[in-house]
Amino acid sequence: MMTVMKEGASEAEIAHVVERVESVGCSAHISKGELLTVIGAIGDRDKVADLGLEGTSGVDHLVPIAKPYKLASRQFRTDADSVLEIAGRRVGGGNFGLIAGPCTVESRDQMLASARDVAAGGATMLRGGAYKPRTSPYSFQGLGQEGLKLLAEAREETGLPIVTELLNVSDLDDVLEVADVIQVGARNMQNYSLLVELGRAGRPVLLKRGLSATIEELLMASEYILKEGNEDVMLCERGIRTFETAYRFTLDLLAIPALKELTHLPVIVDPSHAPGRRDWVEQMSLAAVAAGADGIIVEVHNDPEKAICDAAQQLPSAGFAEFSARIDAVAEVAGSVVSRA
Ligand code: PEP
Ligand code: MN
Repeated sequence: MMTVMKEGASEAEIAHVVERVESVGCSAHISKGELLTVIGAIGDRDKVADLGLEGTSGVDHLVPIAKPYKLASRQFRTDADSVLEIAGRRVGGGNFGLIAGPCTVESRDQMLASARDVAAGGATMLRGGAYKPRTSPYSFQGLGQEGLKLLAEAREETGLPIVTELLNVSDLDDVLEVADVIQVGARNMQNYSLLVELGRAGRPVLLKRGLSATIEELLMASEYILKEGNEDVMLCERGIRTFETAYRFTLDLLAIPALKELTHLPVIVDPSHAPGRRDWVEQMSLAAVAAGADGIIVEVHNDPEKAICDAAQQLPSAGFAEFSARIDAVAEVAGSVVSRA
C-alpha cells in the first residue's frame, strides 16, 4: 500500500505515518519527489488498511500497489524516473549511460589501453570483469584481486567510474573498494542472498536479466535490493534463451518499453552478448538507444581478436569514438543525452 502525502506535508506528519505503518509490523519506504512524498508500506496489506490512514493529518490518499514488486513499481514513483548519479554521470530520466570496456581484465597493458581509448572516445563509465562467470570451469576465471587493482589504476588514470561484477559475497569488500557500480551477472540474477547483501552494501547495482528470466522475475530480483534500502538499481537486458540458434541469445528489445511502463528504474541494454559477433553489435546498440534505453554496456577491447574471453563480439577500441558519435546522434533523436562528467 502507498500513502501519498499532501503537497507541503510536514516532516512530523510524514514521521507519524511511518510510525503508524511500522507499528503493525510493516516496513515504510519514503520516496520524496519534487512536490509529493509517498510512503510505501511493505507487509500485510490488510493491517495497513485497518490503520485508517486516510483520515490522518497530511495524508492525501492511499493507493494499493497491485504488483508483487512494490518499490520497483512505477506506481511507487508516479512522478518521475529514478536518476542515478555515479561519480558525476547520470543514468535515467533522459540521461544516457555509455558503459564500455573489455569483457574481462586480462593484463595491465590491455586494461589501460582499452580504458584510455573508451575514455577518449566518450564513454561515461568503464566496464571490466575481474571475477568471471564462465560456462566451463576450465576457462579463464578472471584475475580476481589483481584485476581489481588494474581497474583501480584505470579509474585513477581516466577518471571513469568502474562497473565490475561480483560473483561471490565473500569478495564483496574487495569489490567495494574499486566498484562505482556492482554488476550482478545474468547467472546470478536469482542469487537472492547475494542481492540482499548488495541491498545492504548501498553501492549502485547493475542487475542483468537471467538467461530465462521473465520481466516480472527481473523486477522481483530488483526488489530484493531495493527492500534493503538501496535505491540505486539499474536493470539490464542482455538477451534471453529462445529456440533461435542463429545467434548466441535473442536480444529482447521489447523489454525496454515494457520495463519502462512497469518500473521507474533505469533500463540498460547489453548489445554484445546476444549477437556474439562484433559486426552486429552497433546495430543492436543503436536500436536500444532508439527504443528508449537509459544506457548500454558494450564490450570494447584494444585488441579484440586476441581477447581471452568473448573475442568474437568485442568492438575494437580504436573505433570507439566514431561508434560513440553515432550513439550520441541517435540519443538526440530519441530524446536523451549521453551524460558525461
Ligand atoms: C558480462 O557482462 O561480462 C557477462 C558475463 O554478462 P552476462 O552475465 O550477461 O552473461
Ligand atoms: Mn563477455
